[in-house]
Amino acid sequence: MFPLDGFVTRDPSQVKYAVLNHWYVDRVYDSFIAVITQDPDYPADLPPQDQLDWMANSYSHITDSLEIQLLDIRCRGNVPAPRHNIFATLPTKSPKTWHDLCTLFDNIVYTDPLHGTGKKGPIRQCQICHCVTHPRGLCPFPNIEGWLSPKINNPPPSDAVATSGETGTNRHETNRILTCTY
Ligand SMILES: [Zn+2]
Repeated sequence: MFPLDGFVTRDPSQVKYAVLNHWYVDRVYDSFIAVITQDPDYPADLPPQDQLDWMANSYSHITDSLEIQLLDIRCRGNVPAPRHNIFATLPTKSPKTWHDLCTLFDNIVYTDPLHGTGKKGPIRQCQICHCVTHPRGLCPFPNIEGWLSPKINNPPPSDAVATSGETGTNRHETNRILTCTY
């Protein structure tokens, strides 16, 4: 759905706990209701109680499918700047509803007393595989035997400053492991 920057922990389970703490707030659920009731598949013909159950099940579908993926990003000087990708299955086939739900969740400022504050980070495409879940320095594909396309340590000339694809910022991310989902 979006990347989360700012938390100091590298433990995806701690980030998952912090994210769910915000998703279980009534205000967020109310915002979800406002979006999902506009979905083309919303069962408007059902009795009110069945509609409530449908909405609750739809929200549980999101929270139950939440997964966190750590990107072990390092800034200049090898300073850790962990990024966490937020994945969840959204209960809609409508692109508009999907976009509105993503916007709802990625606009939240995620705070945790132990791990800091997480906010939506920049979404940029990997220059090797074109995926948006990782910067070029963390691309897993060059490690696959037989890979014939660009290598991590062979950046194109236009990417001479930021090894990660984070061009336009002062972030200088180095090649680190891409691991850990929870
Ligand atoms: Zn890639």
